[in-house]
Amino acid sequence: MKKLFSSQDAFELQAVRSELDALSIPYMVKNEFASGAIGELPWQDSQQEVWLVDDTWYTRASKVVEALIGRTSDKADIQSDWRCQQCGEENGGAFELCWQCHAGTRPE
Ligand SMILES: [Zn+2]
Repeated sequence: MKKLFSSQDAFELQAVRSELDALSIPYMVKNEFASGAIGELPWQDSQQEVWLVDDTWYTRASKVVEALIGRTSDKADIQSDWRCQQCGEENGGAFELCWQCHAGTRPE
């Protein structure tokens, strides 16, 4: 078992879960019904966690999360960081072109 992702944002959680379902990646959700539970610490109340049942999926599943959460932050008009496909450099969301090689462009 390996923890893949946690969020208080139901939209993000749902997006990740449906993608994992689509890829037939086995996972389980912890704290799914923890909201308002007695005896939980307050910060845990609405924080749900997605755990991979099989660790061998971790690399693939974490790429899924990365792609999805990047997409959800675009919705809020905040450009997320992106990785240049030409040289692999990490670029800030404000850059349209890769600052290092000037060849890569920010993916839509
Ligand atoms: Zn580059």
